[in-house]
Amino acid sequence: MTPIQKRLFADLKDTDLAQAALEAALEYLDTVSNREVFPDEGALAGLSHFHYPLPAEGLAASEVLSTLHRYGSPATVAQSGGRYFGFVTGSYTMAGAAAKVLGTFWDQNAALFATSPLAATLETVVEEWLRQLLGLPDKTVAGLVSGSSVANFVALAAARFRQLERMGWNVNEKGLYGAPRLRIVTGVRAHSTVKKALILLGLGLSSIELVPVDGEGRLRPEAMPALDESCILILQAGEVHTGAFDNFAELIPLARAAGAWVHVDGAFGLWAAASSSLAHWTSGVEGANSWAVDGHKTLNTPYDCGIVLCADRPALVSALHLDGAYLQLTEDRRDNMFYTPEMSRRARAVELWATLSNLGQRGVDEMVTGLHDRAKQLAEALRRLPRLEVLNEVVFNQVLIRGHRDELTQGILADLQSGGICWMGASVWEDRPCIRISVCSWRTTEADIVQTAEAFSDALKRMSSVN
Ligand SMILES: *Cc1c(COP(=O)(O)O)cnc(C)c1O
Repeated sequence: MTPIQKRLFADLKDTDLAQAALEAALEYLDTVSNREVFPDEGALAGLSHFHYPLPAEGLAASEVLSTLHRYGSPATVAQSGGRYFGFVTGSYTMAGAAAKVLGTFWDQNAALFATSPLAATLETVVEEWLRQLLGLPDKTVAGLVSGSSVANFVALAAARFRQLERMGWNVNEKGLYGAPRLRIVTGVRAHSTVKKALILLGLGLSSIELVPVDGEGRLRPEAMPALDESCILILQAGEVHTGAFDNFAELIPLARAAGAWVHVDGAFGLWAAASSSLAHWTSGVEGANSWAVDGHKTLNTPYDCGIVLCADRPALVSALHLDGAYLQLTEDRRDNMFYTPEMSRRARAVELWATLSNLGQRGVDEMVTGLHDRAKQLAEALRRLPRLEVLNEVVFNQVLIRGHRDELTQGILADLQSGGICWMGASVWEDRPCIRISVCSWRTTEADIVQTAEAFSDALKRMSSVN
């Protein structure tokens, strides 16, 4: 054995080390809800301990781990706790996180049935469960990707393949040089990752026909251009400021009848379809051709859990086409890589399967509905405070806040972000600064909402000079 093999084998046998990692994780879990949501200056200063030259002789695994816990854990942002409302994130359940630990030790390459029958089976199962939970057509297939950025990209690649093929152009063979022009139609509030996907696909921003939206960011049906077979219509389930849903029941049948491909970016909002009291917002969404949704947002799986769903399997598989003599494909079994851009990747289905299996249909319903209830609770509490305005209809989990003066909005946000009680981000809505709140963690309790509303109230008092 070489010296490095000796060391690494010794590490593998060192169960104390594995126990220490688990203990550190559990200690973190225990404290994450009670510490400052954004790391304080001291914790950030501790990050300097990671800046050392690459060791010539490696450090002991136990030392590596203790450095991570000592300086890393306190410097994390407490996104998995109950009072992080920034961006649109989400926490994790014990079933999901623990499954991820086991999956890490399995280290399966999920590319093929031949590389992991287990990963192929779990993907087959979650695909079926997702169709059922989200009410999508039976022929819908799912690819597990890193997030909705990639899910949007992959779905739009399928759309590009199919729409160009309908116009007699095989984009895989001929590329885009000289291709018939595709028309991309979407609302002015389309997510930035949709635009990024269009850029990466070579379609360019100038091919987008932007449709005006209403005050909640919903595409206005009467402002839609006439669609045809060269069109890809991109709708949204959950606008990132207001949480609003496009009017699927009206728009999708029209677009499909005209021969357009309809893609729905439902990164966090598509989960409304799994809530008995919110599903009316996604009514008609099943008529689309493709959807993007994240497990790591509303469903609260650990990160790295995006899902592309596509009712046109041949288009998706053709868009991601790959072959090679050494690939061992299985005729009647699932080869996961046909549904994702990657070949080698980890078995993301493990924690998605574990989370869904652990929650069940009722648990998903209660969890999604609960996020909405807490968002409403917070909006009601903030409406009672002076000099603040709730800008949106709280239809899902997003709450948009503005002070009656921009200076007040900015002052309150800076106060909250440094106060450690909660954290939320800034944005701009209708040309004015605003505070964007996303209730996305199942760990947020009614008490967390009360505490957050109090933090707003205290911040307002400290800003008493801005009238
Ligand atoms: C978060 C989000 C995305 C991007 O998803 P990632 O998982 O961050 O890649 C796309 N669209 C919407 C509406 C989102 O909220």
